Amino acid sequence: MSSTVLLTGGTIVGMNRGRETFRGDVLVKDEIIAAVGEVSAEDAGRADRMIDVRGCYVLPGFVQTHVHLCQTLFRGQDEYACLARWLERIWNFEAAHDFRSMYYSTMLGCCELLKSGTTCILDMGSVHHEDQVFQALSESGMRAFGGKAMMDRGDNVPDGLRESTRDSIRETVDLISRWHGANGGRIHYAPAPRFMESCSKELLESVSEKARELDLLIHSHASETKEELDTCRAQHGMSPIAFLDSIGLTGKRVVLAHCVHLDDTDFEILKDTRTKIAHCPSSNLKLASGIADVGRMIRLGAKVSLGCDGAPCNNNLDMICEMRQAALLQRYLHGNEFEWGQIFLESATLGGAEALGLGEVIGSIEPGKRADIIAIDVSGAHTFCGETCEPAERIVYSAKGSDVKFVMVDGRVLVENGTLVELDEEKIVAKSSEEFTKLLARL
Ligand SMILES: [Zn+2]
Repeated sequence: MSSTVLLTGGTIVGMNRGRETFRGDVLVKDEIIAAVGEVSAEDAGRADRMIDVRGCYVLPGFVQTHVHLCQTLFRGQDEYACLARWLERIWNFEAAHDFRSMYYSTMLGCCELLKSGTTCILDMGSVHHEDQVFQALSESGMRAFGGKAMMDRGDNVPDGLRESTRDSIRETVDLISRWHGANGGRIHYAPAPRFMESCSKELLESVSEKARELDLLIHSHASETKEELDTCRAQHGMSPIAFLDSIGLTGKRVVLAHCVHLDDTDFEILKDTRTKIAHCPSSNLKLASGIADVGRMIRLGAKVSLGCDGAPCNNNLDMICEMRQAALLQRYLHGNEFEWGQIFLESATLGGAEALGLGEVIGSIEPGKRADIIAIDVSGAHTFCGETCEPAERIVYSAKGSDVKFVMVDGRVLVENGTLVELDEEKIVAKSSEEFTKLLARL
């Protein structure tokens, strides 16, 4: 049966073509945005539900293009490591997952993401138990791209994560058949070769071929640390970006997380191939990996979106916090004359949608698009800045994830008054704690 919801009284920061901000209503019919702005009294009168969003900015939901929900249980573990040592520890934790701990790790992440306004993610799983990740994502109501991590080589990979090239590909193909297009198209499969050092050339070439054949996104890490750069030069005689390009792992259907250490040729490759970059500034700072010059990428016309990476290297999954981090760093690198607030609000919404190939489906509040909508309460003391301030700057620099009061995905209300509607947060936190204790015993 058809249903309509009217969001009324808010200020719409809808990322429409003109980037206008205006007071108005949003009418949602089933999964689709039916009208924006002045909704006729007749349509308003017919709405099944009216939701009062006075005092709020109404935005498209945030899209994160790089997260690891399999790691949410591990927040706070190993706070003082560089990436190489940190990875070793996190891999040991990942290897100790069973299907229950994986399910609750994912659910725990979904609670945090939804409550802070993220409605769509590109997730990289672990090597095993990917069905549980998709199961939890399906139940959460989020829009998601996910894929099991592929790892068929590398130093310090625990036995529990090492897999043969054949098994890695076979399992990926099986998962694609089970999950790609599930939940009415809300779930997508994106093959995830973890990174150059943990994947053989044979595996990377097979993934590239398979993804092209099925028109799937590919999700990987690249040029995160100086050490990775040195290893790649020693093994392949070129940078990680040049190496990936040489085997067909660049292009508009490839999302590469980090891209911190790039030379001039790398910038050109990313621009020319229209490869998508998932910028993760908090993770790069916390693991002391470096600062990505995404300002230069954006000036070159490259596509940059944002991600919080995993909970243990951030330590939160709050997109507003990530936008602020990104904007402050680029102010430092490139100066204040650019509208970094606006730039990263775009990266966090429409930019993320475009990176995932969903620019025509989500990422803005416009009639005909899917109703992935959030409302951020800006009536609090900490967001006070008078009537004349720019909404983008107010959101990016003053607001917090906890100001998100309302979240809808595909027309389904998932957060209301700042509280999860369908998920039982208290139970999920309690079960997560139980599962983490059991996981520690398996280490
Ligand atoms: Zn990552």
